[in-house]
Amino acid sequence: MSALSPVLKQATPVLAERGEGVHLYDESGQAHLDFTAGIGVTSTGHCHPKVVAAAQEQVGKLIHGQYTTVMHKPLRTLSERLGEVLPNGLDSLFFVNSGSEAVEAAMRLAKQATGRPNIVAFQGGFHGRTLAAASMTTSATKFRSGYGPLMSGVALAPFPNCFYYGWDEETATKFALRELDQLLATVTTPADTAAFIVEPVLGEGGYVPANTAFLRGLRERADRHGILLIIDEVQTGFGRTGKFWGHDHFDGKPDIIVTAKGLASGFPLSAIAASKELMARAWPGSQGGTYGGNAVACAAAIATLDVIQEEKLVENSAERGEQLFAGLREVAESYPVGGQGGIGDVRGLGLMAGIEFVTGDGSPDGATAARVHAAASERRLLLLTCGTQGQVVRMIPPLVVNGEEIDEGLRLWRESVAAVLG
Ligand code: PMP
Repeated sequence: MSALSPVLKQATPVLAERGEGVHLYDESGQAHLDFTAGIGVTSTGHCHPKVVAAAQEQVGKLIHGQYTTVMHKPLRTLSERLGEVLPNGLDSLFFVNSGSEAVEAAMRLAKQATGRPNIVAFQGGFHGRTLAAASMTTSATKFRSGYGPLMSGVALAPFPNCFYYGWDEETATKFALRELDQLLATVTTPADTAAFIVEPVLGEGGYVPANTAFLRGLRERADRHGILLIIDEVQTGFGRTGKFWGHDHFDGKPDIIVTAKGLASGFPLSAIAASKELMARAWPGSQGGTYGGNAVACAAAIATLDVIQEEKLVENSAERGEQLFAGLREVAESYPVGGQGGIGDVRGLGLMAGIEFVTGDGSPDGATAARVHAAASERRLLLLTCGTQGQVVRMIPPLVVNGEEIDEGLRLWRESVAAVLG
């Protein structure tokens, strides 16, 4: 009997033995088209030969250098390489192991640098499962319930979620910014507010892109009040959205950026970056961790950056994303929201695509999304769900996916939706 706790929920029945490119292979050697990429992690595809070679070489040289004890070469090189791709003005970074840890680190930096206690997060956001990160997370109650009291000092403002509100972008954005101003006037005064933390595309919250007016609105308020803008690029970074950073779509200008997932092709590595001036305001020695900046993970991340550049994965993400969205929209047209419900929305950016299922009266339909997701698994198309009620099926294929593989995914998707909705 397995000792594995039932607290872990597995989205698909697959026992993955091997991965190559966009496929996972099970025990019987059957290939599954993996449009989950390990929740947006294996952007270079499973076991990209260059990543494998870099990690293998590093394992034989040095596995654990421990970055608060010694410097090591992969850490130094990766820091230089990331310096070339970080947003303007963010010239200082350090590593931890997971998205949640990086979010915690960003929050700690923001509080120390401003001397202010509160954080504003946005409704539907997901920032992780550790206490502070969970306190800023409202993509679904399962990440918060039974865990309280959560960290105090987190105030929530609306995200311009057009489909949810049934509004156009301008109306939703005006509303969100007005409510934010109201929050700063009634709940957490700017003098008490260290940071705004926002995702460029709500990830676990349902694949809802932000927009330019919203991010500019946050920047403008951050500047006016001395509040720091933390952009959580854990899921959206490293080409996932068809630009290097998700916020590149929206003229976002972060003070602190949080990254993980696509950074190291599956090795546990995350990073936070800010300006040197801001980092200098952190309490020395207050950040870090035993495993942060692991040498093998750093070597894999350097190879990942090489592959992203050599194979033009950001461009591929944009191009294959267009193909994917065109196909998904075509399928959605066959299932308009009528009496018995259907596909209410197809949205996202690049290779980050969400398909929202709704009931006849327009409510989120997690049950149908779950059935379509299961139908896809049966056809060996691996997908994930997200959204407050699990009503959004999401596709996040590796960024190395080619045109034929997207077509194959769309064919299986069409079949899966038809199997459930007729
Ligand atoms: N932030 C965002 C935007 C995420 O999508 C996630 C993971 N889904 C996290 C933070 C937390 O990352 P981790 O699971 O590595 O702790």
